[in-house]
Amino acid sequence: MADPKGFLTTPREEWPRRPAGERVRDWDEVYVPGALLPIVGRQADRCMDCGVPFCHEACPLGNLIPEWNDLVSRSDWRAASERLHATNNFPEFTGRLCPAPCEAGCVLAINQPAVTIKNVECAIADTAWEEGFVPPLPPERLSGRAVAVIGSGPAGLAAAQQLTRAGHTVAVYERDDRIGGLLRYGIPAFKMEKRHLERRVGQMRAEGTRFRTSAAVGRDVDAAALRARYDAVVIATGATAWRELTVPGRELAGVHQAMEYLPLANRVCEGDLERSPLSAAGRHVVVVGGGDTGADCLGTAVREGAASVTQLDIYARPGAERDERAEPWPTYPRLYRLSAAHEEARDLRSAPAADADARLFAASTLRFTGDERGHVRALHLVGVDTGRRPLPGSERSLPADLVLLALGFSGPDRHDGLVDGLGLDMEPRGTITRDRGFATNVPGVFAAGDAARGQSLVVWAIAEGRAVAAAVDRHLSGGSTRLPAPVGP
Ligand code: FAD
Repeated sequence: MADPKGFLTTPREEWPRRPAGERVRDWDEVYVPGALLPIVGRQADRCMDCGVPFCHEACPLGNLIPEWNDLVSRSDWRAASERLHATNNFPEFTGRLCPAPCEAGCVLAINQPAVTIKNVECAIADTAWEEGFVPPLPPERLSGRAVAVIGSGPAGLAAAQQLTRAGHTVAVYERDDRIGGLLRYGIPAFKMEKRHLERRVGQMRAEGTRFRTSAAVGRDVDAAALRARYDAVVIATGATAWRELTVPGRELAGVHQAMEYLPLANRVCEGDLERSPLSAAGRHVVVVGGGDTGADCLGTAVREGAASVTQLDIYARPGAERDERAEPWPTYPRLYRLSAAHEEARDLRSAPAADADARLFAASTLRFTGDERGHVRALHLVGVDTGRRPLPGSERSLPADLVLLALGFSGPDRHDGLVDGLGLDMEPRGTITRDRGFATNVPGVFAAGDAARGQSLVVWAIAEGRAVAAAVDRHLSGGSTRLPAPVGP
């Protein structure tokens, strides 16, 4: 490190967010533009280069974190970019979206807040693009083998990029009209602007990867015929089958799944729609589910101009109350977490709940009731103990004319013809069955990402995409590969 004792003199400082009241008026990323670079060198210098980098072990990608912290502390951005891209195809995605298990592993965190690894990653990736350190890397020679990747989320994109660079001819099939999976139509632009996605897709096209959009395999494209046409197939179709809430009143108008709501808001940002048909404007919004998807609904509803927002979480409020700027995210769920969206909801101030940030913990939905036109008007809930048993006398109602269900996802869509068309074996929990080498029961067909792993994280999707590419390359080349495999299934 430029200053080996930097951690003794420099406190943790994160990329500042814009004031909540300002950022809810647009869909841009929540951070103050240009405010990261001036602080990031000294933050990287806080790395102790401890010699036992648990940060590296904690990252599914095996990111070489102490190495690039050192390079950033010395302002060697080109070398930092080379080391970062050696393990991660899309660091500007993880630098913005990852909950950063690396920071939970940081040895400095025994005594002080962890190094801001995620911010350092983001600074390297953004600088690399600005300085032109991320050229397309087309293969020197082609293998003559062809691979179809089904699904263009982070797992499919990582697999496609690795396989293209290894010399295979790769076509990505995507049922949506645009590339990106949940990065495109799930995750809102205020967490990651779509330009980052466009830039990578442009890089991949220049390397030779082909993209076919509006092509649902199993519906628009015959699955068995596709298998016969390619030497190998990678299924990276995500976990799109959402969990339901079976309570009285679920059928009322105005009760929607989060993934019915978020894609429409994302389409407004893309310029496809002037206004979302499910817009929260002027409505009392209740989000059922305490995870990231729920928080994304919250941030979206606030930007759309909701009259009030409330998020219900079945789990008890986490113990200590600390701001994540002082205590990094990964310590969740043991600590109370104030995400950007919760900060914004708190600032809306009209939350009907006593909770300042619009969350109600240890709350379970009993039923919805509606008006004479069959539209939801209220959500009735009960408090629960840690065993989710109802607490007598704790029933209450919230005004609700838009209810968003964010209860998680079980696995890929079983009804789109892909699973049956290929004859894939499935796990009882709803994910695609695969062996230790990412291979499904169908010869030459592999599975990666949320479709096989179950609902997870962007960093895991990229890691699985890289690893499945190694498995496919080994399969195609008769047993050997030079591609890295950071994780197993
Ligand atoms: P996906 O991103 O789901 O992509 C699968 C793609 O396959 C989709 O584009 C789909 O249209 C396509 N597809 C499906 N079936 C077919 C077919 N038959 N033919 C062709 N194409 C098909 N993770 C984080 O790390 N940080 C976050 O902040 C975060 N926020 C999230 C917010 C929301 C609202 C949600 C829902 C998830 C979030 N996640 C987050 C999780 C993360 O987005 C996923 O783990 C990740 O995107 C999974 O990648 P994937 O490539 O496996 O699948």
